[in-house]
Amino acid sequence: MENNKELRKWLDDFELNHPLVIAGPCSAETEEQVLKIAHQLKQTDTTVLRAGIWKPRTRPGNFEGVGALGLKWLQKAKQETGLLTTTEVANPHHVELALQHDVDILWIGARTTVSPFIVQDIADALRGTDKTVLVKNPVNPDLSLWLGAVERFYTADIKKLGVIHRGFSTYEKTRYRNNPEWQIAIDLQNKFPDLPIILDPSHIAGRRDIIFDLCQTALDLNYDGLMVETHYDPDNAWSDAAQQITPETLDQITKDLRIRKVTDDAAEFKNKLSTMRTQIDVIDHQLIDILGKRMKIADEIGALKKSKNVAVLQTKRWNEILGKMILQGEEKNLSEEFILRVFKAIHQESINHQEKVING
Ligand code: PEP
Ligand code: MN
Repeated sequence: MENNKELRKWLDDFELNHPLVIAGPCSAETEEQVLKIAHQLKQTDTTVLRAGIWKPRTRPGNFEGVGALGLKWLQKAKQETGLLTTTEVANPHHVELALQHDVDILWIGARTTVSPFIVQDIADALRGTDKTVLVKNPVNPDLSLWLGAVERFYTADIKKLGVIHRGFSTYEKTRYRNNPEWQIAIDLQNKFPDLPIILDPSHIAGRRDIIFDLCQTALDLNYDGLMVETHYDPDNAWSDAAQQITPETLDQITKDLRIRKVTDDAAEFKNKLSTMRTQIDVIDHQLIDILGKRMKIADEIGALKKSKNVAVLQTKRWNEILGKMILQGEEKNLSEEFILRVFKAIHQESINHQEKVING
């Protein structure tokens, strides 16, 4: 697959003066629910109505979607409101049913993207259609796997493509349900600048209060759209209740977001600069995160040394570390002086942490 403007033609054809908004409930629940939310979303910037029909649940025994019946509700919602529709397909049978019910955009779920066999089966089932396919990132932070799935559709002659960034699983609990790992999406954008990228803040956040900030970061990084789980009664949603927002909140969010549009050279310059600044912000956050992790281990070492009555400062080990870091720094074009200064500061903070543990 090559980067080319063809990749984003389907999106440009909407001629929107704002990011593409895909909104709707995590799951279709009842006909009334789908129709009601569709009419409410029609009053917002929403272009595409989303609703999960088949739900991949982590553990059995939870609501697993209403199944094919829900496709009729989506079709009716489209007829009544003119909104386009999208749902997740996870096997060729889903594709067949979605095609029968005239679903406009199909998305590939994070748990499907990890499996090349299934992705290939879905791509083969779509060959010869002119559907738009949006590929969610795989659950694991692997850019090649994500791009590999996109390529399987491209090779099956599906040229209306895009990706959805929904965050990545981690064992460690963080403030996110799924870690954004913005760097992966930035790398993807750098490789395929014309492949539309849409943020799904709902599955990254897992909660309502940080949806706005995630959307703003995405727009600052030049994302093309947002897919936001929206329900008129979020607390009583049958799935993902904690992260869904009301259509009113969605409307407020899209009004409050700072949208950057390229209009002339000066604007383009500012746009590029601002994108790069956001990229730096992302990396700075990672730096703090990593330093925090390092100090946590220093605390544990402090506790261990305390239990064995060992001295905090181990000069031999420290000199070894420094030597290695200077060599590694050279490979990245970082001066010896800089590495020395940075690591002295890190080392000092580590010692302070250990001493605090040891001396209470
Ligand atoms: C969803 O969009 O409701 C969903 C199940 O998404 P994901 O594949 O990102 O978990
Ligand atoms: Mn969901």
